[in-house]
Amino acid sequence: MLKEAIRINKQQLLAEKFGYAEFRPGQETIIDKILNHENVLGIMPTGGGKSVCYQLPSLMLDGLTLVISPLISLMKDQVDQLNEMGIPATYINSTLTQEETNQRFRQVGQGEIKLLYVAPERLASFDFQEMLRYVDLSLLAVDEAHCISQWGHDFRPSYLKVAETIQQFDQKPPIVALTATATPQVAQDICHRLGIPAENEVTTGFARENLSFQVAKNQKDVYLLEYLRLNKDQSGIIYASTRKEVDRLYHLLQHQQIKVGRYHAGLSEAERSSNQEDFLFDRLQVIVATNAFGMGINKSNVRFVIHAQMPGNIESYYQEAGRAGRDGLPSEAILLYGAQDIQIQQFFIEQSESDITYRQSEHVKLQEMNQYAHTQMCLQRYILRYFGEKDPQDCGQCSNCLDEREVVDITVETQKVLSCVKRMNQRFGKSLVAKVLMGSSDQKVKQWRFEQLPTYGLMKGWTQKDLVGLIDYLTAEGYLTPSEGQFPTLSISEKGIQVLLGQATVSRKQNIVKQIVADDAL
Ligand code: ADP
Repeated sequence: MLKEAIRINKQQLLAEKFGYAEFRPGQETIIDKILNHENVLGIMPTGGGKSVCYQLPSLMLDGLTLVISPLISLMKDQVDQLNEMGIPATYINSTLTQEETNQRFRQVGQGEIKLLYVAPERLASFDFQEMLRYVDLSLLAVDEAHCISQWGHDFRPSYLKVAETIQQFDQKPPIVALTATATPQVAQDICHRLGIPAENEVTTGFARENLSFQVAKNQKDVYLLEYLRLNKDQSGIIYASTRKEVDRLYHLLQHQQIKVGRYHAGLSEAERSSNQEDFLFDRLQVIVATNAFGMGINKSNVRFVIHAQMPGNIESYYQEAGRAGRDGLPSEAILLYGAQDIQIQQFFIEQSESDITYRQSEHVKLQEMNQYAHTQMCLQRYILRYFGEKDPQDCGQCSNCLDEREVVDITVETQKVLSCVKRMNQRFGKSLVAKVLMGSSDQKVKQWRFEQLPTYGLMKGWTQKDLVGLIDYLTAEGYLTPSEGQFPTLSISEKGIQVLLGQATVSRKQNIVKQIVADDAL
């Protein structure tokens, strides 16, 4: 009876307060667990409807719902929206004066507020904790919960403190943690730190059906200008890894009379927010930005996200690419691949002050990102597998699914590569393997006396770029296994051994013309 009443109540609230006819996948399960006083982790894709998961139960519970969110820029928007819906919500963050803060403390203390948004740092402050002691805390929502895990791509020490602080609370409200990006390892870590039972992990799948993923290996600038010429009226974000590259692309596009803005941490606060605003209100068609742009950007009609340089891991890539098509309409996520981009990311990892274990794991993630650019598997499927989904389907719309090039048997070439790796004792990386195969007289080849190997010059006529591309492909497809660390060495996997033994064949889609040239030269 009671359960039925709650159900009606939930459904009614959803319709009357939020204006939605039905729950989206996962929402009701998460809400039920909260109402049952259980801790729960919700993993839903961007735009999946995470906010409702804590906003709705907050209205069914007596006391305060405290929302921890790293996005100061989003807090105000969310609170404004809630207030418009007649829900008493507020935020406390560093943008307020002391007087405003005190006034909000008072409102919360007097039970006038249902939802209070704060940044993680605030939770640790003494004043804040003191105030909480006098408040009936009925729910704790941790947004962007992946920031709590050292294995996540966006780890924030202040989030670790959140977990510690919560443990010390006298009150034990249920905790709901929410994120759009969590590998199985990260999900496990979040559960561990926040005391969420493993069976209370609610995942609705990561797939974004309206996004078509593409990897392009063409000349970047030419591709970009042509793409923008063909998509004149569409709004989009172009990401680059460095401020310098953002500036360069910005000038390049500006020169073509494209309505472009830029965004990176090197610009003044005023310039950044005015560019952001111009983009949000469609006064600019595109914005070129570093990853400083986007956290909390809730622009629904972004039709494309182009990465002019490869980001450091799949989580960042998927999160940034996911800013396209929040309105559910078909949109594109394009990665412009350049082999040298990996060095920029390696540099970022090495210059960070994190410990060696963390850096190693970042290097592994970078390799997985690199493999994304070389696999011929469905790109959406590659991403979903990365996030731990079992047997995802091919999307049928990414550049790999639509690749109509000829499937060529490359078993012999693969055997050549693998046997060279073997003869080099599986102790070297892809560039040296490529150099040996093409018969280079490079100093390092000589130093190791690799010109005496029977595989030396076995693929003469191939360019180093094409050979490295082939090795990357074989790595992405699992014939070669890279070691961890900044300079991965290659070893032959079980799957590769089958090929060497002649028990399995290898194929690859490629341009047939190029293949003939390459074969002639052999
Ligand atoms: P997320 O935080 O997961 O990216 P939001 O909570 O911002 O997503 O929700 C994304 C969009 O989906 C919002 O426009 C929201 O109004 C809408 N939405 C959420 N739940 C529902 C629902 N049950 N039915 C229809 N629309 C919903």
